[in-house]
Amino acid sequence: MSSVSIQLGRRGVSSCDTDLSTAPWEIDRSPGYGPGASAADHIPADAPRQGVLPQEYRDADEAQLHERIRAARAALGDRAVVLGHFYQRDEIVEHADYVGDSFQLANAALEHPDAEAIVFCGVHFMAETADILSGAHQAVILPNLAAGCSMADMADQDDVEACWDALTEVYGTEPDADGRVPVIPVTYMNCSAALKGFVGRHGGYVCTSSNAATVLERAFRDGQRVLFFPDQHLGRNTAHAMGIALEQMPLWFPRKPLGGNSQESLQQAKVILWNGFCSVHKRFTVEQISQARAEFPDVRVVVHPECPLPVVQAADEAGSTDVIRRFVDAAPAGSTIAIGTEINLVNRLAAQHPDKTIFCLDPVVCPCSTMYRIHPGYLAWVLEELVAGRVVNRISVPGDVAADAKVALERMLAAKPR
Ligand code: SF4
Repeated sequence: MSSVSIQLGRRGVSSCDTDLSTAPWEIDRSPGYGPGASAADHIPADAPRQGVLPQEYRDADEAQLHERIRAARAALGDRAVVLGHFYQRDEIVEHADYVGDSFQLANAALEHPDAEAIVFCGVHFMAETADILSGAHQAVILPNLAAGCSMADMADQDDVEACWDALTEVYGTEPDADGRVPVIPVTYMNCSAALKGFVGRHGGYVCTSSNAATVLERAFRDGQRVLFFPDQHLGRNTAHAMGIALEQMPLWFPRKPLGGNSQESLQQAKVILWNGFCSVHKRFTVEQISQARAEFPDVRVVVHPECPLPVVQAADEAGSTDVIRRFVDAAPAGSTIAIGTEINLVNRLAAQHPDKTIFCLDPVVCPCSTMYRIHPGYLAWVLEELVAGRVVNRISVPGDVAADAKVALERMLAAKPR
């Protein structure tokens, strides 16, 4: 049986879930997302289900799987492009043509208009985005359909539509004297295509952690306030850095009257934050930063903006996965760097910079359980199926949804990170 490879890293002493030593086709049988940080999150009833991986892939060892992936890639040549998110395990990343964050991978997909297949080693919403942006002749493939995102699933379309209706009752629809509408919806990239379509229909934007500040500035040019979903932390961190007071950022709890807020607090609101979060990044704490500083007085701390505000404030730097990568690249040899983001990226950066001491802020090793669903066995399977002329696990966004979502995504791509 093929093993998994989650390294414990420099300070890691334990993992968050003993199932991390279990092969992914074992956890496919369970109803949750699988072992790891978001194992306690609820997987939606209508989430795509992965069928059982053919036995030959489950029986193959890692060396055999890598050989099969390499052979399939050679047979396909330019007909297929493989994209790998920073949070994928190394055994996947080594086969990717591009490795990046969701913003970079969205752009990478655009660079291959002639590829018949875009194999997206990431999570479901990323594959949907690639499908929306790519040509109709291109098939976007997610190697394991169970690779969702627990944060994305915290905002469903019905709840967001209900929120929008309630806000419309509170604020009306009339623009102010400067022509700014009452509310502009802004969604983090980590949401369903249906919600990107909602945002496109209502004059809003999609943002990533790279360009959230640029997008919020544009949204305030068009509107008096912003409804930001699904990640409360990215919204709060970005708006706080722009000088917006915390009292002007009420939290919206879906399915509660007025989201659990009063009319008065909504009238004063500048940014209404959806009650969503990333189960990986909410694990990071100020105490972990204090401990790292006590242990390594010269440590520099960099965290992802999906971490809570106090963690971002206690860090030396906060930014997207690409910002974190560049922070590490720019640090002089001999530096000590503590990172608050997903363990696979931290371990990879540590391996790439042996002249620096790099470790994860959280001593308990906990990968993104949904990214973790992509295993070399699934990659080998989808690629060999392509060689045989069969497309499996295609992600297709319906045309009407895609048209609206594309409007919001193109606004996102035009809003360059600062
Ligand atoms: S790290 Fe968090 S936001 Fe990113 S895919 Fe995993 S659960 Fe979703």
